[in-house]
Amino acid sequence: MTSKGLDSESFELLLAAVQRFIRERLVPAENDVEEHDEVPAALVDEMKEMGLFGLSIPEEFGGIGLSMVQEVRVAYEFGQTSLAFRSVFGTNVGIGSQGILMDGTDAQKRDLLPRVASGELIMSFALTEPDVGSDAAALKTRAVRDGDVYVLDGVKRFITNAPRAGAFTLMARTGGDGAGGISAFIVPADTPGLSLGKPDKKMGQRGTKTCDVVLQGARVPASNIIGGEAGKGFKTAMKVLDRGRLHVAALACGMAQRILDESVAYARERKQFGERIGDFQLVQAMLADSQAELYAGWSMVQDCAVRYDAKPVGKRDADVSTRASCAKLFCTEMVGRVADRGVQVHGGAGYINEYKVERFYRDVRLLRLYEGTTQIQQLIIGRALMQED
Ligand SMILES: Cc1cc2nc3c(=O)[nH]c(=O)nc-3n(C[C@H](O)[C@H](O)[C@H](O)COP(=O)(O)OP(=O)(O)OC[C@H]3O[C@@H](n4cnc5c(N)ncnc54)[C@H](O)[C@@H]3O)c2cc1C
Repeated sequence: MTSKGLDSESFELLLAAVQRFIRERLVPAENDVEEHDEVPAALVDEMKEMGLFGLSIPEEFGGIGLSMVQEVRVAYEFGQTSLAFRSVFGTNVGIGSQGILMDGTDAQKRDLLPRVASGELIMSFALTEPDVGSDAAALKTRAVRDGDVYVLDGVKRFITNAPRAGAFTLMARTGGDGAGGISAFIVPADTPGLSLGKPDKKMGQRGTKTCDVVLQGARVPASNIIGGEAGKGFKTAMKVLDRGRLHVAALACGMAQRILDESVAYARERKQFGERIGDFQLVQAMLADSQAELYAGWSMVQDCAVRYDAKPVGKRDADVSTRASCAKLFCTEMVGRVADRGVQVHGGAGYINEYKVERFYRDVRLLRLYEGTTQIQQLIIGRALMQED
């Protein structure tokens, strides 16, 4: 079965509602989020009412069931405002829930997905550890079987939405070394022996929440292994990340659009030497490079999303995975360049907190780091090219 998504008329209505919500409710709240490092609860409630937590979850489990082509369009819109807003529901739509949807048992899906889709249950994805980031297959968190339960010990680092989460999709080692020894667990946040570290103080994206998740003798039923079978967790994590990379690439394009819009508006208004700075060809060159690169990136995302939807649901396709890495690599690097030019177009004002580009410049830096760094995307693409049939 391939992914069809919402019928086009309903999708266009949803997209229009999302655009209105972002324009009328989120953009005006950006400064408030930056100042207080928190997304207001009233806005989170509105997100729940709009069904945003269930964008990617099929209708049979209470979600909206967007295709990837549709999801990237929504991500593009959410990229055009502070990334903290999308982060509130981002893990439910992506890395927190997709493992269950792709590889979970029917009972796990029925139990969890409706609550994930409504936003009642926030799910986080816990793979990274203090000593294990890019080399995720080397993770150290141990899960030792004791009758019907597994006992978990270890530390997970930089976990997005951990302070808000009701449960974690958490990777731990049930077997020997390497990827084959890893299992994906559903770990409720109120499990005795699970505690949270102090919130991380980040460079940007204020309003997003990350912290350590510490496991000390945390007992989790064996039936909480995603799919019910040990040793499959790494494959699940990689499938989840393929999809997540495409979503992040779309987000990067949306943010590039917003930075470009801010830059064009400034270039039309600001005057030097008696002329609008946007009439100087050197300033136009910066804007033109950003426009061209944005167009290239967004074309990649849309093309890859079509291919993603054409493959069987829940199955990994090597060609699509490589293309998702290409999109993530190009778009997240691209938005970094666009943000840099955005600051340049604003001159000194671009370095001052009052102007949005200063904040976006810091916010987009993360996109090149998480869900696989730029270097890891290069390795994935390079390895695929060197593979002989
Ligand atoms: C704000 C934030 C939110 C996050 N959210 C989550 C989350 O929700 N869940 C989660 O599990 N993780 C999360 N992460 C973790 C993130 O995915 C990792 O930080 C990332 O994968 C990189 O791992 P690392 O930080 O350990 O860096 P390292 O792996 O230590 O990398 C350091 C540098 O070395 C490079 N490098 C590493 N290996 C190679 C190699 N073989 N060849 C060439 N270069 C290499 C890297 O590209 C990088 O430049 C988050 C991180 C941040 C900062």
